[in-house]
Amino acid sequence: MTDLRELSLRLEGQEPAAILRAALEAYPDAALACSLGLEDAALVHMASLLPRPPRIFVLDTGRLHPETYDVLAALRRRYGLPIEIYFPEAAAVEGFVNANGPNAFRESLELRQACCRIRKVEPLARALRGASAWITGLRRDQGPTRGEVRLFEADPAHDGMVKISPLLAWSLEQVRGYVRDQHIPHNALHEQGFPSIGCAPCTRAVAEGEDERAGRWWWERPEHKECGLHPARPEPGGGR
Ligand code: SF4
Repeated sequence: MTDLRELSLRLEGQEPAAILRAALEAYPDAALACSLGLEDAALVHMASLLPRPPRIFVLDTGRLHPETYDVLAALRRRYGLPIEIYFPEAAAVEGFVNANGPNAFRESLELRQACCRIRKVEPLARALRGASAWITGLRRDQGPTRGEVRLFEADPAHDGMVKISPLLAWSLEQVRGYVRDQHIPHNALHEQGFPSIGCAPCTRAVAEGEDERAGRWWWERPEHKECGLHPARPEPGGGR
C-alpha cells in the first residue's frame, strides 16, 4: 500500500506537471475533476501533454455562469479530450426546488449544503465510482479551509480514496502566469474580479485585497465556505 505521507514529502517542491505525472504512475485510474476554474484549466492542459491523459470530468450543477459553459466548450475544442459531464439527479433537484424554492441556498446553511449535496456531492460520488484516486486543483493559499491539505491524502469524504492536489504549492499568481503563458482557455469572469468561480447565484466578484474565496457564499462565515466536495479539515484543536 502506498505511503501517502512519504509520497507527499518526496514530491513536495516539484513542478505540478511532474507531480501529476508521478500521481498517474502511482494511480493510473485517477480521475481529474475539472471545475472549469483557472487551476483545473491548467491541469487539463498538463494532462493533455501526457502520453496517457487521465479521465476528466465536469460537474454541471445547472446553475453555472454562461461564461463557464464557454470554457467547457473551449477546452473540449482545444484539447480534443473526452471531457465527461455529470448532471444532478433530475428528481432530486425537482423535489428540492419544489419544496424550498429556486434560491433556497440563501435562507440557511442547511439548505445551502442540501443544494450542494444534490447538485455537486452526489454527482461527484457517481463520477468517482470505480476510481482509486481523484485529482483536484486545490491550492494551500486559497483560504482558511485549505491550509492543511497535503499533495496526497486519504479522502474521508470518499471512503478513503486518494485525493491528489498537484497545484497545492502554487499561488494564484503562478496559476495565472501559467495559464497566460500557455494560452490556456479560461473563464472570462477571471478578468472581471472573480478569482474563484462556482455556481452563478453563489459567486460574486471580490474587491482588491479580499480573500480570493470571499466571493463564494459571501453571506456565510469563512469556515463554512466549502460545498462538500472538499470538506473543511478539522482544526488541530478538534473543532471545524
Ligand atoms: Fe446550489 Fe449554490 Fe451549491 Fe451551486 S453553489 S450547488 S447553487 S448552493
